[in-house]
Amino acid sequence: MTDRHFFVICTWFWGGWGFWGFLLLGTGRAEESRFVFEKAEMGLPFRIALYAQGPSQAKAAADAAFARIEELNAVFSDYDPDSELSRLSRSSGQGRAVPLGADLWRVLEQAQLLAEKTEGAFDVTVGPLVNLWRRVRRKRELPGAALLEEMRARVGYKSLRLDPVTRSAELAAPEMRLDAGAIAKGYAVDEALAVLDRLGVHRALVGGSGDMAASDPPPGQEGWRIEVPAIDAPGAPPPQVVLLARRAIATSGDHFQHVEIDGVRYSHIVDPRTGMGLVGQSVVTVVARNCATADSLATAVSVLGPQKGVALVEGTPGAAVRWVGLRGRDMESASSRLWPEIAGPAGDR
Ligand code: ADP
Ligand code: MG
Repeated sequence: MTDRHFFVICTWFWGGWGFWGFLLLGTGRAEESRFVFEKAEMGLPFRIALYAQGPSQAKAAADAAFARIEELNAVFSDYDPDSELSRLSRSSGQGRAVPLGADLWRVLEQAQLLAEKTEGAFDVTVGPLVNLWRRVRRKRELPGAALLEEMRARVGYKSLRLDPVTRSAELAAPEMRLDAGAIAKGYAVDEALAVLDRLGVHRALVGGSGDMAASDPPPGQEGWRIEVPAIDAPGAPPPQVVLLARRAIATSGDHFQHVEIDGVRYSHIVDPRTGMGLVGQSVVTVVARNCATADSLATAVSVLGPQKGVALVEGTPGAAVRWVGLRGRDMESASSRLWPEIAGPAGDR
């Protein structure tokens, strides 16, 4: 590593002027040097660490990867009324099928498989309930029974009908709203990594907040060192570390975004079967073969809880999970059989 101290950080500060900054640290003569780039995409900080021959190859590859993420934001954004997803949502209840672009098709197909496997604990039609709980968080006031029922009636993965022959979707109930927030970020991370690979960058780590995917590890190392987000509460288990290579990792949980009303914490993750924000206070980390899988499984396990959640992940080839959360008053943890092979105490790695 000593002769590989050529290290570049390139950071864009996203603002009205499109200002960007470029910072060069150190020099070296290594064949492959490490570069780090950051850019706000999908309203989140995305980060790419990669090894390349030099700054121009590195920057060209990172630019192309960020451009791919931006392209996917135009497909999946639920804030943008012109996104392909928003346009599809507006077709609900009209009795017509809408042809889908390749990315939307792949994500919805994967989402529906998981919805079936989890009997609707994971459900991309959850949009009306997610919006309801966004309002709850703003107003700090629980929804009334009638409003909750009204929103629940708009949700249900069985009303999202995919036709594999025409690659089209029909939203069979009125006022449906799709929300790909628990899978699209992971998919974007996978796609960005695939772009880097096609451009000859084979040692890379792409991350969009907690969700990350890696190709080959840094030279001479077993994997990219990733700290598993720890829960910040008394009795929580110590932090762990994963060495990530040709795998993805995602964390989700009601611990991070929530609102407290009358002493109860409600999460931004909703149980579509009850319409309620989760109250369990958990952090779920999943490692899987790709980030769309890790991302969606992490949310599914948050809803299902440790028992059913661990079983779900054990039935997914190459995947492992750790669940940490409150059961009653006690902090507990549960993990799948494969987890100890993948993660370990921070000091050992
Ligand atoms: P994070 O927002 O921290 O990445 P997740 O990956 O768990 O956390 O995604 C949470 C998002 O998933 C919510 O903001 C919402 O858009 C969506 N969502 C909430 N509940 C569900 C659910 N039961 N099934 C599918 N998506 C959900
Ligand atoms: Mg997720």
